[in-house]
Amino acid sequence: MKTVDQIKFLGKKALIRVDFNVPLDKDYNITDDNRMTAALPTIKKILNDGGAVILMSHLGRPKGGPEEKYSLKHLIPHLSDLLGQHVEFADDCIGKEAVEKAKALAPGQVLLLENLRFYKEEEKGDKDFAEKLAALGDIYVNDAFGTAHRAHASTAVIAQFFPEAKCFGYLMAAELNNAEKVLNNAERPFTAIMGGAKVSDKIELIEQLMGKVDNLIIGGGMAYTFAKALGGKIGKSLVEEDKLDLANEILKKAKDRGINLLLPTDSIIADNFSNDANTDTAQNDNIKDGWMGLDIGPDSIKVFSKIVEESKTILWNGPMGVFEMEKFEKGTKAIADAVVKATEGGAFSLIGGGDSAAAVAKFNLTNDVSYVSTGGGALLEYMEGKELPGVKAINE
Ligand code: AMP
Repeated sequence: MKTVDQIKFLGKKALIRVDFNVPLDKDYNITDDNRMTAALPTIKKILNDGGAVILMSHLGRPKGGPEEKYSLKHLIPHLSDLLGQHVEFADDCIGKEAVEKAKALAPGQVLLLENLRFYKEEEKGDKDFAEKLAALGDIYVNDAFGTAHRAHASTAVIAQFFPEAKCFGYLMAAELNNAEKVLNNAERPFTAIMGGAKVSDKIELIEQLMGKVDNLIIGGGMAYTFAKALGGKIGKSLVEEDKLDLANEILKKAKDRGINLLLPTDSIIADNFSNDANTDTAQNDNIKDGWMGLDIGPDSIKVFSKIVEESKTILWNGPMGVFEMEKFEKGTKAIADAVVKATEGGAFSLIGGGDSAAAVAKFNLTNDVSYVSTGGGALLEYMEGKELPGVKAINE
């Protein structure tokens, strides 16, 4: 794997694709800067080596033209603070201003380009657009794991213009190494915890993991599709009616392969999808009509936690319940605590991005697990065994 450690940046301009797609409030304050801090080691390394840095990213989902609320200029003050230096900005990611500002950049200086997605060519993977971006720098560095599963102009297509001068940043390298460690070098027992809303989103990952794990814990909304497939009464809990056969197939496959597949036995149920709802505890195969399961129950917490605490490798993707609401966060919090305990005991724990990362952050446990991925979709696809365009473009 070629990383920034194998390239000489002295006197060169590095064009770095970062993922600065951070959440902003209505006053353009950054509410979570994880994605920015995650890119700092790569940026600082290049600056310290005597290179100049040109940063490019997308932000939000603009409709193919400039939109004030998605301008990357809102990120300049915080980025300057994080780097401890002035950050130059180009109002357009290509064109005269970008070219001139890139040209004028001295070693140690930083230029941030305007949102790449102000051009629809970015997501289309347009080659001419990629070539214009490529003309701004001498070396291409991809450090945007969050978009590595997209074959966009700046994430993949651009790499062909740097046949000898392209590499991964530290964040990408760490993400790939940690995913590999779990997929191909897992110390046993290896436990995967799957949760979240839908079976259909995670089915490929579940299938892939069945060949690897010792324990497969399934919680969250997707567990009710399994409960119904087994003939249980699930009230109005979340269910994918068209995935009932699939759920039975997964259960059979797990049995045939000797995998310990665990489903919740009990739930915290509610008469409403709300934090003000009336709640009760119920067996998962006997949920009252009109009620829905919104969290795993106390017995499930006990059983799941024990398995997690005894594991040496843990992959967690998807919350155990509607953790965003206080009344239904207990299951997810208990599992997070169990993951932390296992990690303290020497286990390696990888937390998938997206909602699992948000949950761990909500409970202030981000620094107590081994690694929290910055990529939701990208990590899922990588774990499913798919080749990520952003990774392939650097490797080929
Ligand atoms: P996903 O993006 O598939 O990982 O799903 C995450 C979402 O699933 C979170 O927003 C949770 O609130 C939601 N979720 C988890 N458990 C349940 C449940 N039992 N019923 C409805 N939604 C759930």
